[in-house]
Amino acid sequence: MSDGPLFQRAAILGIGLIGSSLARVIRTRGLAVEIVGFDASPEVRRRAEVLELCDRLADTPADAVAGADLVLLCVPVGANAEVAEAMAPGLAAGAIVSDVGSVKLAVIRDVGPWLPEGVHFVPGHPIAGTEHSGPDAGFADLFENRYAILTPLPGSDSQAVDKLRALWEGAGSQVEFMDARHHDKVLAITSHLPHLIAYTIVGTAFDLEASERQEVIRYSAGGFRDFTRIAGSDPVMWRDVFLNNREAVLEMLQRFSEDLMALQRAIRWGEGQTLEDLFRRTREIRRGVIEMRQAGTFDAREPERAKGEEKKEA
Ligand code: NAP
Repeated sequence: MSDGPLFQRAAILGIGLIGSSLARVIRTRGLAVEIVGFDASPEVRRRAEVLELCDRLADTPADAVAGADLVLLCVPVGANAEVAEAMAPGLAAGAIVSDVGSVKLAVIRDVGPWLPEGVHFVPGHPIAGTEHSGPDAGFADLFENRYAILTPLPGSDSQAVDKLRALWEGAGSQVEFMDARHHDKVLAITSHLPHLIAYTIVGTAFDLEASERQEVIRYSAGGFRDFTRIAGSDPVMWRDVFLNNREAVLEMLQRFSEDLMALQRAIRWGEGQTLEDLFRRTREIRRGVIEMRQAGTFDAREPERAKGEEKKEA
């Protein structure tokens, strides 16, 4: 909880899962006096109105950011350049611009050049989300007890960085600082590669003969179900992640493929000890994740389910 509003006017561009969750938490915790929203989709704008997510909905990005001291870009990574260009003429001097994109170097490359002198850019990425998208999917507790990574640029204004840290702490997150390149590498293995694997395995299963496909669905509780949850994530968001974190993802994919080959070999040659050693090591890693309270679902509205899962696996 903050002591008072950190910002006078927050502009949220892109009112999907993350943007609407930010609108909700900013509103419920009084982090800004006023919220102005913009989304490219008229349907999303209509939903945002019905859900009363913002005090006002703007017709253009430039109109949305006019007079705002905080601007949050919550669009798919590949849309940031277009939105930054469109909002630039409306930006107020001294405004803090941030984003929530899952990739940082590409967003810095795409947004930075459009920002006028005197506007502070502090890129960010909440490590929180669900497989759902759109304004109806958001909720105020999404960021509670999750990490928010900020990747300030070498000359970033320290007061702007402090205010953004306060915003994320106000939303319930623990803030960490990282270099953008390092962020992209870490997220390539912790988030991007797992999604790629899930998309692949679900695709492979569905390319099976129709009769086998039926059984894949019927017996999905055998592990497949968890992959289908991840593979149900937003197609546009994830297309943009892979196109914009190409280098790091390909590097991690290379390492993963080598390890997969090693496992394939162990299975072929009946090397049970190799398999067991790895599975014991990964079980320890899972325990570490639970101890850091990052297990369970990312949906804080399902605490009982998450707790149950943590207990079962502890
Ligand atoms: P989302 O629910 O699909 O919301 C994105 C919104 O932006 C949609 O309403 C979309 O409208 C709108 N949009 C697209 N292009 C736009 C443009 N040019 N101008 C204005 N609005 C535009 O996606 P999300 O999950 O909130 O993701 C938003 C950002 O958060 C992404 O950069 C993603 O990498 C990052 N992120 C996501 C998660 C997660 O788990 N989902 C977690 C952390 C960070 P249309 O639907 O009509 O295209």
